[in-house]
Amino acid sequence: MKFLADRTTGKLAKKLRALGFDAAYWGGGPGEEAARAALTEGRMFLTRSRRIPAVGKDLQVTFLEANDPREQVREVLQKLHLRPSDELYFSRCLLCNEELHPVTKGEVEGRVPDFIYRNCDSFCLCPRCRRVYWPGTHMDKMKEEVGRVLPGRGWPPARRESAGKGSYGRKEGGKE
Ligand SMILES: [Zn+2]
Repeated sequence: MKFLADRTTGKLAKKLRALGFDAAYWGGGPGEEAARAALTEGRMFLTRSRRIPAVGKDLQVTFLEANDPREQVREVLQKLHLRPSDELYFSRCLLCNEELHPVTKGEVEGRVPDFIYRNCDSFCLCPRCRRVYWPGTHMDKMKEEVGRVLPGRGWPPARRESAGKGSYGRKEGGKE
């Protein structure tokens, strides 16, 4: 399912992207344009506004009540009976909504901090903004976020005391 979140939803799109959903954000003009874009692109229109522009009966809309983006994510998942898939976490650029492409270590040399380069072997690149992503604190944060949004999902995994802070996703003594 693809989404288009309008301006009333703030950071919702970004949070949905972190879960791997295709979530466009409409930061532009009036509500009517947003609704029309959602209709044209076949996206579920996510809004907190109760005034939906009449752009056609085919527009699919999910109204959200919550103000907090995390609550909004919960609402979206509950109302649409969606279960994000583990493999998709962090598969999209949080800024552009583009799907990330895996790249080789060599390709990111000089573009990530040295200690990240030394300690990490898996990198992804956003084809649009060229931002480099790697499994690290950012991703761990997102996973924690998922754990908060979806309690009982098993995220975050039980923390090992020994892992300590700033481990950048390295699972000392872990399976990965
Ligand atoms: Zn990007």
